[in-house]
Amino acid sequence: MSEKESHPVRNGIIATVVGGIMLSAIPPLREYALKVLGWIWSGVVWVWEALISGYSIPGWVLLILGLLSIIGVVNIYLAIRSGDEPEFMKYTEDFIYGAKWRWSWAGNTITNLWCFCPKRDAQLVYDDSSCRNILSDVRKTDFICERCGNKVIASISGGDKNYAIGAAEREILRRIRTNEHNSSKNSEAHKAIKALNGSELKGRSIKVNQAKPRGERSSRRPRY
Ligand SMILES: [Zn+2]
Repeated sequence: MSEKESHPVRNGIIATVVGGIMLSAIPPLREYALKVLGWIWSGVVWVWEALISGYSIPGWVLLILGLLSIIGVVNIYLAIRSGDEPEFMKYTEDFIYGAKWRWSWAGNTITNLWCFCPKRDAQLVYDDSSCRNILSDVRKTDFICERCGNKVIASISGGDKNYAIGAAEREILRRIRTNEHNSSKNSEAHKAIKALNGSELKGRSIKVNQAKPRGERSSRRPRY
C-alpha cells in the first residue's frame, strides 16, 4: 500500500524541488512564471467581482432574457420527451383481411409479422399453391386455421406468401399513417369474429368443416 502511494508523492516532491532549483537558477524563467501566475490571479479576481457586483439593467432586457430562458426550458423538455419511444411502437396487433396479425418493431421496421385465428388464436398456416399452378387463373395466398377444421381465415389475392405478408405490412403502415390504428382495432375485431361465427352470413352455410371451393369463398368477400 505505502509502496504504491509513495511513488506519486515522491515524484511530486522531486518535481517541485527540481522546478524550484530551475526557477531560482534561471531568473527570466522565474519572472515569466510569476507573470503568468499574476495573469491567472487577476482573471479569477475579475470573474469574482463580475459575479458579485450589482447591475442596473432595463426592464426590457430582463423580459427578453426571461422569455429566452422559458424557450430554452421548453426545448429541453421536448428534447427529452422525443427520446421516448414513438406511440406506434405500442401498436403490435390488429385485424387485417379477417385475421389477427401480430408483429414486433425493430426500430421503424416491422418484424415477426404473422397472422392468427381471431376465434381460437391459433397460428395460421398458409397455402399459396395457386401461385405455382399454371392452370390457376387466381394468384392468392390462403391462411388456414387447423384448429377450425382447416378453414380459410384470410385470403389475400395477388401473390404468394411473401406478397401476402408484404400486403399486410403495407396495410399496417397505412393505418399508422392515417392514424386509423387507434380506432380500427375494435371494430375490425368485432367484424372478424362475427364473420367467423357466421352471424353475418346467415342463410349461407359456412360450417367450419364444410369443404367449399376456396375461389368462391374469396370472391364472395373481396379483400381489396
Ligand atoms: Zn381458428
